[in-house]
Amino acid sequence: MTGPVLDETHDPARRSWIESANAPDGDFPIQNLPFGVFSENAGDRRVGVAIGDLILDLTALEAQGRIASGDAPIFDGGCLNPFMARPRGEWTKLRAKLARMLDAGASDRDLPLVAQSAVEMHLPVRIGGFTDFYASREHATNVGSMFRDPQNALLPNWLHIPIGYNGRASTVVVSGTPVTRPLGQLKAPDADAPCVGPSRKLDIEVELGALVGTPTQMGRPIGTAEAQDSIFGYVLLNDWSARDIQVWEYQPLGPFLSKAFATTISPWVVTSAALEPFRRDAPERERPLLPYLREATPNNLDIEITATLAPRGGAPVQILRTNAAGLYYSAAQQLAHHTLSGCRMEAGDLLGSGTISGPTRDSCGSLLELTWNGTEPIAVDGGTRTFLEDGDTVTLTGKCTGPYRIGFGACSGTILPAPELREP
Ligand code: CA
Repeated sequence: MTGPVLDETHDPARRSWIESANAPDGDFPIQNLPFGVFSENAGDRRVGVAIGDLILDLTALEAQGRIASGDAPIFDGGCLNPFMARPRGEWTKLRAKLARMLDAGASDRDLPLVAQSAVEMHLPVRIGGFTDFYASREHATNVGSMFRDPQNALLPNWLHIPIGYNGRASTVVVSGTPVTRPLGQLKAPDADAPCVGPSRKLDIEVELGALVGTPTQMGRPIGTAEAQDSIFGYVLLNDWSARDIQVWEYQPLGPFLSKAFATTISPWVVTSAALEPFRRDAPERERPLLPYLREATPNNLDIEITATLAPRGGAPVQILRTNAAGLYYSAAQQLAHHTLSGCRMEAGDLLGSGTISGPTRDSCGSLLELTWNGTEPIAVDGGTRTFLEDGDTVTLTGKCTGPYRIGFGACSGTILPAPELREP
């Protein structure tokens, strides 16, 4: 596939008979059609597509025989994995069909629709593996300047290789799930020995998460074009991080428990197809990339992401605004690199972009950078912050603007106090 590929589902003039989908500032117009998993009244989990302020229930549509499901149902398992593992052509076909059903010109309007306000959203995907990358040059430069050497902020490998590590899939949670402040080993620079206790430098990391659809085979690397075609869609991702735990534990194998206690994702998977009009060229390369990492198509995504912070009982205040378009490595490059050694990727694997930081202080994607390691507090409702306090709620929102507006919904979490420490 070359790209971007536009078809009738991207027509900006297209309207839906569901009026709320036509609101100019809405997240879910007929051009978006993101996939999620929901339940009503604590019932079974069902797969749906967001349209305006409603959800089209695909599990019900499939049971009614109104969307093709091949030999066996694929929307009755309470997660998107079986559909994501299907060939890309089937994703395209269903998207076109759903757009026709919801089009202002459709005559059959007897569809299984549910109000978004009446449901509970769940993790949309069964996530087998979570890999977190480090793709923002500005972020890597800021961190390198803060902790190593401002003159040589980027390590020598960074301009050649998408740096990543294996995170924990077991603690990836859906927006709205509370986040418990982690306990960990802490060691002040001037202390002789570590102590154990609650993290005092609890942070956010504003990221974009890519979800693998088409699986790969063990022992068979894929190129960036195949990788681009294998990505089903994207979510907003907050990779909560404990900086004080991280700084003591990370040498020499990288972060471990400091990043393993929670990662929040937004509930709606915005498909690669919906994002086609927002593909952009990668930033200029300072060093030529090895051929397997080169891209023949624009694979970066112009997604503006903002974060707000609300103290307990306080109002949310915007603390940053950044954009995924500036990432040095695209999700396609990360996925191609991931398979280089023969690592097998499965439907539902999650790839985090790494903290997305821009060139200015207020476009940095972490409190570490926004407050320059806690030395320059930022304003929040009723006070200031360096790192997160108990009761704080952080909410990410994302949008693409162009021929039409595509939204991601919210990615939100509230900090709960640390648990009691058990000894021994
Ligand atoms: Ca991260």
